Order: sequence, then C-alpha cells, then structure tokens
Amino acid sequence: MTHPDARRYTVATTPAILNGFTRAYGPQKCPKKKAHHIVTQAIKAGELVNPGICEHCFGDERKVFAHHEDYDKPLEVNWICRPCHFTRHKEMDDD
Ligand SMILES: [Zn+2]
Ligand SMILES: [Zn+2]
Repeated sequence: MTHPDARRYTVATTPAILNGFTRAYGPQKCPKKKAHHIVTQAIKAGELVNPGICEHCFGDERKVFAHHEDYDKPLEVNWICRPCHFTRHKEMDDD
C-alpha cells in the first residue's frame, strides 16, 4: 500500500511522448517494455522527475525506481526503492 500522504510525482498524460513512442515503435506487444520506455523518455524530457525518495518507506538513501501499478497507464508511476519494489511485485504476484 502506498502511504496516503506520499507525494505524487505523476503526470496524468503526456500525449507528445505517447504519440512519439507509437510513431517510433508502432503498437507494442509488451506493455511492460512500453511502459518502461515511456518512463525513460518522460524522465529525459523532464515530464517525470525521480524524487529520489521512496514512497513506501520514505527512505532517501537508496536509489528509487519508477514502478507501475498498471502498465496501461505508463506515466502513472510510484517511486519506490529496490526492496519496496521487490515486496510490491511479490504482492502483485507479477515477476
Ligand atoms: Zn522503500
Ligand atoms: Zn514495479
């Protein structure tokens, strides 16, 4: 569970990035890959900012990663550290 007070660094939609991806790569079979690619592009473009703090444990000494609850919403990410990410994926029962 994400802490209700966790600050969100989420951009609802970035049509330019989404359209750019579809133009460059066509429809993707793997939504996970696509979501990760979109996040990478969004970070480069400054649309998404890695806050450097985990939304789950609020630790800031660790590197945090963009985690997707829903790969169909590639820009809706949670920023969580590796151990929390691992735990979350176990909860989600997704690799
Ligand atoms: Zn954490
Ligand atoms: Zn994840």
